[in-house]
Amino acid sequence: MIDPPQRSDLAVIGGGILGLAVARELLTRHPGSSLCVLEREHRLAAHQTSHSSGVIHAGIYYAPGSLKARLCVEGARLLYAYCEEHGIEARRDGKLIVAAHESELPRLDELERRGEANRVTGLRRVGAGEIAEIEPHARGLAALHSPATGVVDFSQVAAAYAADVEDAGGLIATGAGVTSLAPRGQGIAVAHERGRTEAGFVVSCAGAWSDRLAVAAGAPAEPRIVPFRGGYLRLRPERRELVRASIYPVPDPDLPFLGGHLTRTVDDEVLLGPSALMVGARDAYRITRLRGADLASNLSWPGTWRLAARSWRTGLTEIRHATSRSSFVSELRRLVPELTVRDVLPGPSGIRAQALDRDGRLVDDFVLHRTERALHVRNAPSPAATSSLALSKLIADEVDQLM
Ligand SMILES: Cc1cc2nc3c(=O)[nH]c(=O)nc-3n(C[C@H](O)[C@H](O)[C@H](O)COP(=O)(O)OP(=O)(O)OC[C@H]3O[C@@H](n4cnc5c(N)ncnc54)[C@H](O)[C@@H]3O)c2cc1C
Repeated sequence: MIDPPQRSDLAVIGGGILGLAVARELLTRHPGSSLCVLEREHRLAAHQTSHSSGVIHAGIYYAPGSLKARLCVEGARLLYAYCEEHGIEARRDGKLIVAAHESELPRLDELERRGEANRVTGLRRVGAGEIAEIEPHARGLAALHSPATGVVDFSQVAAAYAADVEDAGGLIATGAGVTSLAPRGQGIAVAHERGRTEAGFVVSCAGAWSDRLAVAAGAPAEPRIVPFRGGYLRLRPERRELVRASIYPVPDPDLPFLGGHLTRTVDDEVLLGPSALMVGARDAYRITRLRGADLASNLSWPGTWRLAARSWRTGLTEIRHATSRSSFVSELRRLVPELTVRDVLPGPSGIRAQALDRDGRLVDDFVLHRTERALHVRNAPSPAATSSLALSKLIADEVDQLM
């Protein structure tokens, strides 16, 4: 186990895909500087990074001009090139976004418009006949086909970024949860579970816990992180032929989540999900896990109550999907009518670190905040894994201005 250093020019908090990408980018730009990554868990990529759908998004959904739109398209391009260079399997399997009902067609039109504005490569509208040619078991009225969407194992990508950091002379210390940040003159004292590091500048990429350190360091209270659990099912191996690549619904425009989908992962397993349920712990991989501080944080935030008042119907549907396999399967049957509850097995789960504003709006775009001698990533939901190389460049640009 590597000991955290007593001094470091740069310190990055969080050893998920984003913290590691930022560390890598900073060392590329400042090869003479010392840098350490401080990760709370005893392994890297233990949270969102290793609990995702593993989809390399092409950039269809995001509002043109948003950071997400720009950094997803650029990030996917950089990620494919990185994977090729480093021998990491990344397959451009493509995906279909299927409108199963007439009422979804206007939203499909809007997605097509966004995809075109974001210059998503190869995006094409297809009719019912072509849906069945691309995905023989899928049905719908119309769909968008995105051949540039792919799959990868983001844990493998994070491990490769970590190797780059170490090759460039960076130190990665695990079991080193950061407990406080205290700016002092030209530096900042970083207290952690394994002692203290005097750093010149800190970048915090703490995922589901990002608001805690930021607010304690003087950043605004808004937005608050609320954990949204995403539960998955898996297809039985003998039924995997139901899905060739990825089949997605047309998402609810009021939510930043993409809706339960069916995805053949890079390991050739087929995952169904994720659901999207607000939970009472930032690590509620088991749905019943509650943590007093996390629950209090959810309940004391006005945005939680405003979201509940506005979206209680969606909330009830999500509770049903999260707790009843047959309810979730019947939702997915809209896309693949042959699917039955006998075809599925329990699957993994992930916890989204989703920022919620005071008015009850789920914050859609990436958010960064500055405090003295530190930069905090306050919202990096999907597609931040896809965008990690492009987002790390934007973060490093900010650091260069602030240092
Ligand atoms: C269910 C689900 C599906 C998803 N699907 C996709 C997808 O298909 N494609 C895509 O692009 N994105 C997807 N995402 C989003 C993607 O996983 C995240 O955007 C991305 O992993 C964020 O990376 P991160 O490094 O910020 O967060 P994380 O991977 O959560 O890393 C944060 C790290 O910070 C550490 N940490 C926290 N507090 C401290 C502290 N005080 N001191 C030290 N360390 C600390 C944590 O232990 C953790 O390792 C999905 C996410 C989920 C949950």
